[in-house]
Amino acid sequence: MQANYDIVIVGGGMVGGLLACALGGGPFKVAIIDQAAARAIAAPDYDTRVSAISLASQAMFEAVGAWAGMQRRRISPVREMQVWDAAGTGRIEFNAADMGEPCLAYIIENSVIQAALLERLHQHTNLHHLCPVEISEITLADDHARIALKDGRTLRARLLVGADGAQSAVRRAAHIEAPARDLRQQSIVATVKCERPHGAIARQAFLSTGPLAFLPLDDAHHCSIVWSADTARAQELMAMTDQDFVEALQTAFGDALGALSLAGNRAAFPLALSDARHYCAEHIALVGDAAHTVHPLAGQGVNLGFLDAAALADVLTSAQSKQQDIGSLRVLRRYERWRKGENLVMVSVTGGFRYLFGAASPGLRQARNLGLTLTNAAAPIKHLIMRRASGLDGDLPPLARRAAH
Ligand SMILES: Cc1cc2nc3c(=O)[nH]c(=O)nc-3n(C[C@H](O)[C@H](O)[C@H](O)COP(=O)(O)OP(=O)(O)OC[C@H]3O[C@@H](n4cnc5c(N)ncnc54)[C@H](O)[C@@H]3O)c2cc1C
Repeated sequence: MQANYDIVIVGGGMVGGLLACALGGGPFKVAIIDQAAARAIAAPDYDTRVSAISLASQAMFEAVGAWAGMQRRRISPVREMQVWDAAGTGRIEFNAADMGEPCLAYIIENSVIQAALLERLHQHTNLHHLCPVEISEITLADDHARIALKDGRTLRARLLVGADGAQSAVRRAAHIEAPARDLRQQSIVATVKCERPHGAIARQAFLSTGPLAFLPLDDAHHCSIVWSADTARAQELMAMTDQDFVEALQTAFGDALGALSLAGNRAAFPLALSDARHYCAEHIALVGDAAHTVHPLAGQGVNLGFLDAAALADVLTSAQSKQQDIGSLRVLRRYERWRKGENLVMVSVTGGFRYLFGAASPGLRQARNLGLTLTNAAAPIKHLIMRRASGLDGDLPPLARRAAH
């Protein structure tokens, strides 16, 4: 049994989901496939995985009609960010009011994002969602890509999009290399209950072993933590009893939110920086973690992926309107040129931060503390950093541009 599509997206995660929604109602017949069954949200418990969502990503959710579904579930606005060096006096604060915005970002559970995107994509008749399905083989011919599924079905596509994460099978099938630098760190994530209200403030302490972030959830006394630490320390933290872990957390973070306790399980993720040599080949395009991975300290990974998805949707729709071949390198390189430079900057910046704050040398420590203090005092520079991190600047795809507000 063979089904013909214009576009097959492998990976129905957050980035694949947004890409599908951006193509919803358009001129293409699209299939989106995933090996995993759609995750149910175990409300009222918080998902251990959350993402800091930029204002640009929020604008994209709104533009594709998925924002209301997230609001209906659970979102948490961030009104202030505080970042400090635990080994010094350096500190920087960002405030939404200074930017003339109601908030700087949103903390949203990954399962909420995914559920709202899936709900939206199911409303489009040109999108077919196949899950769970397993791929047995991907083959590339001169004028199409062919995906054989283990259940015997075959999908044929003019364009195959890899939205299948850091270990992308689509990237492998296209023989695209993605050199990765193991950061020898792991991020531990967990939901934490705090004695004092978080006040919609995202806090991040740079410890010598890596950054520790407290991200505010919709309940004033709950935060999601992302504790990135050198591998040996992370393994030690994961092996601890809950009580020992909370003690270590309290010592590392201090008293800003009063007494802390765990409100769920811990999970650890190894960290690597990577950037695929190419984002496209004939009949192939890569988006999200399939194309690049960054350190979570800046909360940018999936936000970059959403911008990839919006840029690719824009390039494909415009090529189709000019009757150009959407699987041709000529068209796909427009997407690559648009996104690769921007993503590479973030791969380098987050790698640089990890090095700068991991350095034990007293000279470097003094320099970074002075840098934080000076930047904190320089309103125009702060404004620039904030606009960039919120995704309000840069070469944005139309879907990410906000209506004047
Ligand atoms: C601890 C941590 C915290 C983070 N915090 C943030 C943050 O605050 N903000 C932010 O912007 N980013 C953050 N990130 C990064 C973010 O999580 C990733 O960038 C994002 O999940 C990438 O999404 P994706 O859809 O590209 O890939 P994935 O989330 O990896 O999804 C890939 C999908 O493809 C499917 N798939 C894989 N292989 C196949 C196959 N062969 N066939 C079919 N389906 C397949 C999978 O089942 C999955 O659904 C964080 C990362 C970590 C580790």
